[in-house]
Amino acid sequence: MPEDLSALDRPATVRHAEPEHAGVVLVDWMLGNSCNYACSYCPSALHDGSIRWQAATDILRFLDVLRRHYCGTLGRQVWLQFTGGEPSQHPRIDTILAEARARGFRSSLISNGGRTLRFWDRIAPLLDGMILTYHDEFADHARFLDLAVLLAEAMPLHINITIHPDRFDAILARALEISETVPLASISLKPLRIGFGTDPYAYTDDQRARMQAASRGAGPRGTTAPRGVMCAIAEDGRHAVQKAAAFLLTGRNRWHGYLCEAGIESLRVHADGRILRATCGVGGTLGRLGGPVDLPLSPVLCDRDACGCVADILITKRDIGALNRATGLA
Ligand code: SF4
Ligand code: SF4
Repeated sequence: MPEDLSALDRPATVRHAEPEHAGVVLVDWMLGNSCNYACSYCPSALHDGSIRWQAATDILRFLDVLRRHYCGTLGRQVWLQFTGGEPSQHPRIDTILAEARARGFRSSLISNGGRTLRFWDRIAPLLDGMILTYHDEFADHARFLDLAVLLAEAMPLHINITIHPDRFDAILARALEISETVPLASISLKPLRIGFGTDPYAYTDDQRARMQAASRGAGPRGTTAPRGVMCAIAEDGRHAVQKAAAFLLTGRNRWHGYLCEAGIESLRVHADGRILRATCGVGGTLGRLGGPVDLPLSPVLCDRDACGCVADILITKRDIGALNRATGLA
């Protein structure tokens, strides 16, 4: 059956287009809230250093908990995606990445790339992928290009380019230069959300179309990334494949009442040590880094009006009514 965008309106299932992505628990791990940048659109709680870096001993202990639960009990691949603040600034980042590798996990960083090329050259062998985010207010453009080339040659690289509507044309020109210089990387021009919440800034239709046109999917190394695109499937088999950003831009990110694999396919470690199923916080706190943690064995019922971030959109969800009808329970 050909793709049909009407499948997006009330899908029975939203699942990963690549089946192997469903077998990965992606741990979105905020190591702290210190950052070497202070972007104007970033809430201060995400970069002001008000929370100390997490202790390496607590981190390494939790790596063992993850291995027992997700690899042992659930038979999943663990992929750690470290964020911050700026995760490359954690004083023990080399050790954390080496210990993750020793446990058979995969690791990547979401980073502004602000550290030296020598630093990145040193830790590149410990990384399985990298998401670089270009923030035009602080990025050293020439050095960013050098770093992107270095990383793209070593691992799958995705580049997010944040594009503020007030500086749209200037940032778009930079984005096109990055795109030409680093052909191996996938690229997303990201609509910014006000205060990093659920509502995007007021982009014109033309700006949205140009952002989509300048973005491109995975390059030749991209097949090992932990996440890709999602496929929405209606009860009658109509289906449509979409990028997470497209769900956000079109407002088709509302799955209240769906059964969601948050906590099975995803985990969120907050900078203050709280452990949640996903960024949304549905299902409540599972425990704390350095203390007891009760990791889930089953999915959770979504009680939110909107699924507000890309990481949460990239989790399998099933309409419980359609699920019951399919299994003869309704
Ligand atoms: S680089 Fe990221 S964490 Fe740091 S200030 Fe900018 S948006 Fe916030
Ligand atoms: S808001 Fe949370 S529970 Fe709801 S669909 Fe998104 S990730 Fe799942």
